Amino acid sequence: MTSFPSQARRVRDRELPPVRRLHALRECALHFAPYGFRATWHHLVVSARIPRRLEDDPVSLERAVDELSEGRDVMLAVRLAYEQERRLEKASGRRVPRSWNPPDGYAIAYCPDPERHPTASLATVVRRILGAGAGSDGRCVACGTVNSRPGWACAVCGVQPGGPRTCHAGPDADARWARIWRR
Ligand SMILES: [Zn+2]
Repeated sequence: MTSFPSQARRVRDRELPPVRRLHALRECALHFAPYGFRATWHHLVVSARIPRRLEDDPVSLERAVDELSEGRDVMLAVRLAYEQERRLEKASGRRVPRSWNPPDGYAIAYCPDPERHPTASLATVVRRILGAGAGSDGRCVACGTVNSRPGWACAVCGVQPGGPRTCHAGPDADARWARIWRR
């Protein structure tokens, strides 16, 4: 079992062949994927501008892992703050937590269509999602849009309310994903 930090170090290791660094980036995205793996991967490819020929711009892999790490750091900080608060609460005899238990990083804003996901940086979106807390009043946790089609992904940013359980990935999603994955 490999950890996010050790895989992130591999991504940044310029001594390694670019394809191995790409594989390490995929491992990182398996550990931390706020939109689910497919949409998170597509987001990274687009936002870091990872070229088809990695040799053309291997530094793009570092941009991608930097963005992923920043998003993960936001989540870790929120979780740490929650755990500290819980420790204090338990020490003072409070069994039921006062606040919402923030989720860890997988699919906290699941996007069923790999090509439809928020476009802001992962850190910005993760901060927004975790800041929204447990109740979001029928609004999208990522962009705040009121969902006019309950059960469907947000019309603005593609996030599925309720996560991966209920999915409408959109037409040809699997075929489009195969194209993204093969590069
Ligand atoms: Zn949205």
